[in-house]
Amino acid sequence: LTDRIKKNFDADVIVITGYSADYSYEEAISKGASDFLFKPVRFAELLLRLKRVLKERHLTQERVKMLEQLQTLATTDGLTKLFNSRHFYNQLTLEVDRSIRYNPPLSLLLLDIDHFKDYNDLNGHLAGDHAIAAVASVIGTCLRDNDIAIRYGGEEFVVILSKTELEYAKQAAERLLMKVRQQKITDPQGIPLTSVTVSIGLAQYATGENRDSLIARADTALYEAKRTGRNRCSLA
Ligand code: GH3
Ligand code: MG
Ligand code: MG
Repeated sequence: LTDRIKKNFDADVIVITGYSADYSYEEAISKGASDFLFKPVRFAELLLRLKRVLKERHLTQERVKMLEQLQTLATTDGLTKLFNSRHFYNQLTLEVDRSIRYNPPLSLLLLDIDHFKDYNDLNGHLAGDHAIAAVASVIGTCLRDNDIAIRYGGEEFVVILSKTELEYAKQAAERLLMKVRQQKITDPQGIPLTSVTVSIGLAQYATGENRDSLIARADTALYEAKRTGRNRCSLA
């Protein structure tokens, strides 16, 4: 019974038995019981044990919640609330493994804000941070549920488009270019600033290549987009 309860319900079990010869304490605990009592039960003792089991349950729930919060903190960028680069490498490794095994298409976008050093020099670094957050929010709202947006570092972003054909990835990149261009940006006091643009390198996963080769090709494409005028997307 303990076994069934533990498997099917989120509940704690205290086993109470009069058959001391047939059931062992170890057996009940190993099935997941929180405690074990022999009859006749003294109610003062039962109450104490119930309180202890409830306290442990509460602590366990707290621990689970804390672990979830830590997990979120460890994979989230503080300024933009996008994922961080640690999450990026883990996730792209998984996606590339999936493409090697099952062959779904996979696209990668690298984005870098254009002439951002000048933007900082002109408006200050706090306003620069504001612009980075504004670009991040555009990226976040432009994507589908399964797409993964990351702040790679500084004013650079990555988007993993899993199970995505090249044609859709190109459209997504063009949509991002347009939305970033149109995004209104203010400084921390709410005073309007000039908009920013981004350049994008797009690479489609090629059969047989590894994760780092995919990143390197997207990087080269990004460099090409910068070299050929910025505010545009280049295809690897
Ligand atoms: P390019 O068009 O070639 O990308 O020109 P760029 O000036 O943007 O050049 P680059 O990407 O090499 O330089 C990035 C600049 O972005 C350097 C730094 O001043 C600024 N930057 C990087 N990270 C941050 C950040 O977290 N906050 C702010 N405000 N500025 C940052
Ligand atoms: Mg950069
Ligand atoms: Mg830049």
